[in-house]
Amino acid sequence: MTIAPEAPARPAVPDFLELEITGRCQLTCPSLCYAKAGPTESHGSMTADDWKRIISEAAEIGVKKVQFIGGEPTMHPEFEALVHRALALGLSVQVYSNLYRVKPEHWRLFTHPEVSLATSYYSDVAEEHERVTGRKGSHAATRENIVKAVSRRIPLQVGIVEVFEGQRTAEARQELYDLGVRTVNIDRVRSVGRGEVHVPSTKDLCGRCADGRAAVMTDGTVTPCVLGRFLHTGNAKADGLAAVFNGQQWADTATSIPRRSPSMACTPDDSSDCDPSNTEACDPAY
Ligand code: SF4
Repeated sequence: MTIAPEAPARPAVPDFLELEITGRCQLTCPSLCYAKAGPTESHGSMTADDWKRIISEAAEIGVKKVQFIGGEPTMHPEFEALVHRALALGLSVQVYSNLYRVKPEHWRLFTHPEVSLATSYYSDVAEEHERVTGRKGSHAATRENIVKAVSRRIPLQVGIVEVFEGQRTAEARQELYDLGVRTVNIDRVRSVGRGEVHVPSTKDLCGRCADGRAAVMTDGTVTPCVLGRFLHTGNAKADGLAAVFNGQQWADTATSIPRRSPSMACTPDDSSDCDPSNTEACDPAY
């Protein structure tokens, strides 16, 4: 009798945790934003103390890296304090910012050796970029800050999402390489949030969600990743992270996500690759 090898168990505690600390953003990205963020959205029901507690707990249970996302994470009033808390606990930090506006104190923060940046860019032509972001002037602002990040030698990844036909994604990628950006990925819109064209399902996911990664939403809900936000596995605000990751709901959800071959899935130790705008490796399973 031949026994088929079982898929390796998914680790209960992820190495990488996305922290969606706000729904507020200067932009709206009307046909793209998975978080449905915008200038009038709130920071959610998680308080700064809740986030600090969760960051501390993450470090205690073995998380290695956190990514601050939103919305625009730098718009959270306690953004700097939260980053400092993570760094003080030995966590690596990535900030996923639209780089539309960067305060001088944030530039100082971004030059910390354990901090890296990620952003999105949609075209080398301003009109195309701003068609995606919904805000005039956003192309020049983000491009200028990409140049500043490169000149400051801040590690930077840029994701390009193909939103409409004919969008100059290849030209955008070449422009970014010419500006000195080393890591550029092209992806397409996912059926999540404002990009939703059908009811999202686990088939929309890459297959490695919950495998070394997880996300905490603005109300404390824990999901397998930001794209898997329709899958709720518990609440870190109410129950704590350890209880969620040791719970049956987390295990069942992780098991329910169809796996893909390793070469087709996200890289578990670099979660920024699994951002909807920052990977071509994170395709849906089917
Ligand atoms: S996709 Fe990003 S930049 Fe655009 S509205 Fe959403 S959070 Fe803001």
